[in-house]
Parts: sequence; structure tokens; C-alpha cells
Amino acid sequence: MQKRILVTGGAGFLGSHLCERLVAAGHEVLCVDNFFTGTRRNIAHLLDDRRFELLRHDITFPLYVEVDEIYNLACPASPIHYQFDPVQTTKTSVMGVINMLGLAKRVKAKFLQASTSEVYGDPSVHPQPEEYWGNVNPIGFRSCYDEGKRCAETLVFDYIRQHRMPAKVVRIFNTYGPRMHPSDGRVVSNFVVQALGGKDITLYGDGSQTRSFCYVDDLIEAMVRMMGTGPETTGPINIGNPTEFSIRELGELVLELTGSKSKLIFEPLPSDDPKQRQPDIRKARELLGWEPEIALPVGLKKTIDYFDDLLRRGDGPHPVGASRSN
Ligand code: NAD
Ligand code: UDP
Ligand code: UDP
Repeated sequence: MQKRILVTGGAGFLGSHLCERLVAAGHEVLCVDNFFTGTRRNIAHLLDDRRFELLRHDITFPLYVEVDEIYNLACPASPIHYQFDPVQTTKTSVMGVINMLGLAKRVKAKFLQASTSEVYGDPSVHPQPEEYWGNVNPIGFRSCYDEGKRCAETLVFDYIRQHRMPAKVVRIFNTYGPRMHPSDGRVVSNFVVQALGGKDITLYGDGSQTRSFCYVDDLIEAMVRMMGTGPETTGPINIGNPTEFSIRELGELVLELTGSKSKLIFEPLPSDDPKQRQPDIRKARELLGWEPEIALPVGLKKTIDYFDDLLRRGDGPHPVGASRSN
């Protein structure tokens, strides 16, 4: 059945893949974005489709539209971007989520909140199950994002309890793929852009910290499955790829796949940088029948091809706030 679906943050990395997927499934998609980190380029191929509509809007302000489902992805996601204007980051996760939940309540829409593994902070439990409450610094540089996203989860569960709304939370772990922002400082985009440009690969700390990387197509599949569940399935549910790599291993793999002669160099570790992160995805397996399918070398190859093309077209890294393709 065709639905009217709102995707906030739809011009961003994950949002653009989600819009593409929903339009391809025959739905009408309203993409709402303030273009802070998202770009028109990410959704340019959808603009001619009559089922796709783009609205420039900041979700910290109320929005009155009629839709059946809301995927709330709006929020800068990389440390460089969310620390650029930390107060706006918290506003997006708190005021923005209140507005989108208020909208969902008025039009009786299903609601899915994109939360994050950052709600676990620097975890003392490994791998992280959904029951773990986390280890988060409330006053550090990452707090605007971590605490904002934690408050957003609180709001979703209060709207569920108070207004009996069909709302859900997914906790997304590190995800990568084409359309990542080339200058967002995240490790996959940094390493690939550095390797392709013949620049040194910057390992922060000694590179022994770990992450588990999920390819974007696997992630989008899980999000769509989660939205498809009944009101009893609220989450929070972890979504990510449980195969864990050290950052050094990632650097070596990028060098191998790009054939680059770049060197691995060491730089200081940012504050509050989690030492290890790996999702426990038993719930996602059980409730969504979902399992990531794309192995890191396969997904990295597609990501490398994307950045190779981007850099050849001269659209390389540029500073925050100077996005040229809006
Ligand atoms: P992104 O920065 O590419 O996308 C975020 C989008 O939201 C951008 O298009 C941006 O312009 C838009 N936006 C930001 N503030 C807004 C506002 N106030 N109003 C309207 N639009 C706004 O990041 P992404 O990686 O695509 O992340 C999407 C969502 O997934 C975020 O909520 C993020 O917290 C979550 N997430 C992502 C990852 C990951 O690894 N990519 C991991 C955990 C959680
Ligand atoms: N809201 C919105 N669109 C709507 C309905 C509500 O943006 O279609 C916003 C509205 O600005 C409000 C917020 O959502 O402040 C929360 O709405 P809710 O009805 O939950 O609370 P209230 O209006 O009582 O504050
Ligand atoms: N990192 C790194 N070099 C870089 C960028 C990141 O070593 O050029 C490290 C970073 O310190 C962290 C890991 O890679 O330990 C993942 O960083 P990212 O910002 O991608 O995600 P997050 O820390 O939010 O998981």
C-alpha cells in the first residue's frame, strides 16, 4: 500500500538512501532538511520523481503536514559537525523531536527515531546490549549529541506511554557508504579521502580502539523492517554490524583496497573517544529477522569508488558551513 512518508534529514547520508529506498518501493516521500550537513546533490536524482518532494525546513520549528509515517533522522552525526554549533545540536534532538512527535500525534503517524550507539558513551559493558544504560559524560564535547539523543529517546518513550503512540527507537552503530560527507571527519571517509589523495592516514591514539562498521544498505533494510513492526515493538533496538575491527586494521584495509602508498601516522586521541564499540544485535535478529550481509571489504570498495568519482569531479573536502552544492 502506498504511504505518505516524511523523512527528516533526508538530504543527509543515511536519509538520502532511505528516501531512495522508499520512493523505489512506490511511496510518496517528503524529504525535510535544513541543509546543515546534507546536500541537494545527495537527492538530485530523486527530484524529478513525482513521488518525491523536498522541503527546506529546520525541525526545531513546528511543521504542519499530513503523513502516515515519520522517520526522524535530522541531526548532524559526526563529531566535527555536531560540535560546530552544540546548542543547535541539542535543540535538534530535543525541540526537533518534540515537534516531530507532536506532528505524529496529531496525524496519528507511525514514528521512528534514529538514535545512536553514543547513548552508551564509553561503554563498560562489551558488546553493548540494549539493556545497558551507558557511561556518558554529561558536560563534555560529545554531550550535546549524546545527551541530546538520550533525551530524544526519553521523549519517544514518554509519548508512547502518555499518548499511546506507535513509536520506535533504533540505535545505529557506525555506518558507512557512498554519500558520507567527505569532510565530516568520520574515520571511513577520512581514511578513504586521505588514501585516494596520497595523504597520510591519521590514526588517532595508537589505533587500537575498535569500531564495528555497517554498510548503509544493510542499515536501511533494518530501519524499514523496524517501521514495519506492530506497536508492541518499540525498541530500542541496536542496528549495526557486529564484526569488530581496530582502527589500525581499518587503515590497513583501506590502503590495500585503494592501492595507495600513503603512510599510517599517529595523532592525539580526541577526548571521550570510546575505546571499543560492538553492537549486540540479538534483538534485531529475533524481532526483525535481520542480519547484516555486506562485509567490510565489499562495502569499502563501493565507498572508495564513490569518493574516487567525487574527488575526480573536484568536489573534495571543504570546511563545515561551506557546503557548496546546496
Ligand atoms: P548527516 O549529517 O549526513 O545527516 C543529517 C541530516 O540532518 C543532514 O542532511 C542535515 O542537513 C539534517 N539536519 C540537521 N539538523 C537539522 C534540523 N534542525 N532540521 C532539519 N534537518 C536537519 O548524518 P547521517 O550519518 O545521515 O545521520 C542520520 C541520522 O542517523 C542522525 O540522526 C544520526 O544521529 C543517526 N546516526 C548515524 C550514524 C552513522 O554512522 N551514520 C550512527 C548513529 C546514528
Ligand atoms: N507540532 C508540530 N506539528 C503538528 C503538531 C504539533 O510541529 O502537526 C509541534 C507543536 O509546535 C508542539 C509540539 O509539536 O509544540 C508538541 O506537540 P504536542 O501536541 O505533543 O504538545 P503541545 O502542543 O501540547 O505542546
Ligand atoms: N579516527 C581516527 N582517525 C580519523 C578519524 C577518526 O583514528 O581520521 C578514530 C576516532 O578517534 C575513533 C574512531 O576512529 O576512535 C571512529 O571515529 P568516528 O568519528 O568515525 O566515529 P565515532 O567515534 O563516533 O564512533
